[in-house]
Amino acid sequence: MPPRQRRRGEGQWALGYREPLNKNEEGKKNDDGLNVRRRILDIYSKSGFDSIDPADLRGRFRWYGIYTQRRPGIDGGKTAVLEDEELDDRYFMLRVRIDGGRLNAAQLRAIADVSSKYARGTADVTDRQNIQLHWIEIESVPAIWETLEAVGLTTTEACGDTPRVIIGCPLAGIAADEVIDATPQLQEIHDRYIGSPEFSNLPRKFKTALSGCTAQCTVHEINDIAFVGVVNDEGEAGYDLWVGGGLSTNPMFAKRLGAFVRPEQAPEVWAGVTGIFRDYGYRRLRSRARLKFLMNDWGPERFREVLEKEYLGYRLPDGPAPGGPRDARRDHVGIHRQRDGAYYVGFAPRVGRVNGDLLHVIADLAEEYGSGRVCTTTEQKMVILDVPEERTEALAAELEAHDLQVRPSVFRRQTMACTGIEYCKLAIVETKQRGMDLIEELEKRLPDFDEPLSINLNGCPNSCARVQVADIGLKGQLVTDADGNQVEGYQIHLGGTVGGAFGKKIRGLKTTADELPDYVERVLRRYQDQRNDGESFADWV
Ligand code: SF4
Repeated sequence: MPPRQRRRGEGQWALGYREPLNKNEEGKKNDDGLNVRRRILDIYSKSGFDSIDPADLRGRFRWYGIYTQRRPGIDGGKTAVLEDEELDDRYFMLRVRIDGGRLNAAQLRAIADVSSKYARGTADVTDRQNIQLHWIEIESVPAIWETLEAVGLTTTEACGDTPRVIIGCPLAGIAADEVIDATPQLQEIHDRYIGSPEFSNLPRKFKTALSGCTAQCTVHEINDIAFVGVVNDEGEAGYDLWVGGGLSTNPMFAKRLGAFVRPEQAPEVWAGVTGIFRDYGYRRLRSRARLKFLMNDWGPERFREVLEKEYLGYRLPDGPAPGGPRDARRDHVGIHRQRDGAYYVGFAPRVGRVNGDLLHVIADLAEEYGSGRVCTTTEQKMVILDVPEERTEALAAELEAHDLQVRPSVFRRQTMACTGIEYCKLAIVETKQRGMDLIEELEKRLPDFDEPLSINLNGCPNSCARVQVADIGLKGQLVTDADGNQVEGYQIHLGGTVGGAFGKKIRGLKTTADELPDYVERVLRRYQDQRNDGESFADWV
């Protein structure tokens, strides 16, 4: 760190830097983000968009999962040059948090109703198990909350500098081979700490994963805090603690602290790590405010020492590291047996895009064929649980009749896309439609390709759809085409794997959006021709 910065400090509360050093910190100091709920209910929803205080509109609204969406028709070249006021539409994106990805049919129907009634039918399953809706008007928010809260759903702290949705395995409690069922700890952390002023002013967003899934579907390596199911030498099931992962523009994998966390300790350990982030996290620059930067400076030994001495007041025992994931595909697509003898059926919408009508259909099918339980995954997919074996094929046929494929091509199964320019104010390029088109093209051009292969499309360098950990990661930017025009395109990252290595960013390796299918086809044909037996794409690259 340069000496001048050190003198000014990083804005760490625990070192006495309590005065806000930037506009975001000032906004949080002026008023807790959680307080905006009252103003939405009492003032803004009644008086309309123009009555909204800008500090609430572009700041505190996020504490309830509400973002202004991008005004239609503004091209990606203008993203960096226009002011917020010019980019802001009068409509909002609303994120519904679905902790652990767990829903029942009534909850899914509530989201479907909100989508159809207030969001022009839009709904996207995100790679953090949320469902995002668009075209929301401020006047509708009270009714939306009423609908969601009546079935136990919330948008509280779905965005903002807060503990975001806690991701968990959708099969927790039913997976035949899980190490531990993390449901009770996930629920307790949610109930004790989400929406609590204790953690409503963090330096930046804070992402949690908690799971005992052997597929390691919660991708613990890229979360701020992750509890990974392990069994210690005494045969006791608990968690291995990982801290400080995150992608975006400075990607870092989480570090193991080497500590074994007993299930009943998980909530207080979570609070301890979150407390360290709150108190020691860097608040001076937004670009250095994620927990990964503190971890990078401290290292796991010091982090663990501070956690144990200052926050827990006791030492955690050392514990084993988890093995790797059991499969290169960390998802739950297809028909698989649960440990109670029933089956789950995982299916793939295209790049997470669904809609209100479809969510109604899924809720009906979950009830008709299963117990009503349905889950979102961390790969923009969904799973219906508790289906009797003899009914799985009938359910698969019904899903497929709605283009929700249970046996998708590798391209449908493993392609993800972030929100992109359609709605996101930070976007430079289109992603969702392009992802859908790419899937269709690759299915036509390479119908027999069946190796695990992830393709992640991102609309800007922020990496919401994990650009650096995909086999083919696509980072949206403007590129120059053959005629010298600036057009939408992607910088290419090749051979990334979660927890392995970040994708190689080969200098100058870019494609225009129009040439994207040709580029991907070329690379995959070369891989098929040149690879050795059993060689994965990442190893081949
Ligand atoms: Fe928006 Fe960029 Fe995130 Fe995509 S990666 S959703 S464009 S911020």
